[in-house]
Amino acid sequence: MQSNTSTGTAPEVRLRSALHRAGFRFRKNVRPIAEVRCTADVVFPRERVAVFIDGCFWHSCPDHGTLPKTNGEWWRAKLAKTVERDASNRLALENSGWTVLRVWEHEQLDRAVAVVSKAVNASRMSASRVSTRDAETRRQLHSLESR
Ligand SMILES: [Zn+2]
Repeated sequence: MQSNTSTGTAPEVRLRSALHRAGFRFRKNVRPIAEVRCTADVVFPRERVAVFIDGCFWHSCPDHGTLPKTNGEWWRAKLAKTVERDASNRLALENSGWTVLRVWEHEQLDRAVAVVSKAVNASRMSASRVSTRDAETRRQLHSLESR
C-alpha cells in the first residue's frame, strides 16, 4: 500500500521534478487560499496558479474511469461526490482570481509541463502589464502634483 501523504503519487512526483528542471519554483501540497478547504499538488502563490494531478479512477477520467462491480451504488455516489467537490473547489479558487489546472495522471509529461508553464507565464505577463500601468499612473499623478 503506497503512502500518499508526504511524497505524493508517482504522477505528482514526475510532474514536480519536470517543472523543477524547467526552472519553476513552487510549493507543494498546500492550500492555495486558506478559506478554501482544498490542497493543490503544485501551487504558484505569486502567479496564483494551482495545479491538481487527478487520478483517473478517483476523479472519473472519461477514458479510464471505472466503477467497481462490488458496492457499485456506493462507489457511484462516492466518485460523483469527488467530481462535485472538484468543480466547487475550482469555482471557489477561480472566483478568488486563481487559475486552476487539472492534469490527468495519464497525461503525457511534456504536455502537462507545457500547460503549466503556459499558465504561469501568462500570469507573469499580465502581472507585469498591470505594474507598468501602475507606474504610468503614478508618474501622471506625480507630474500633476508637481505642477
Ligand atoms: Zn485517464
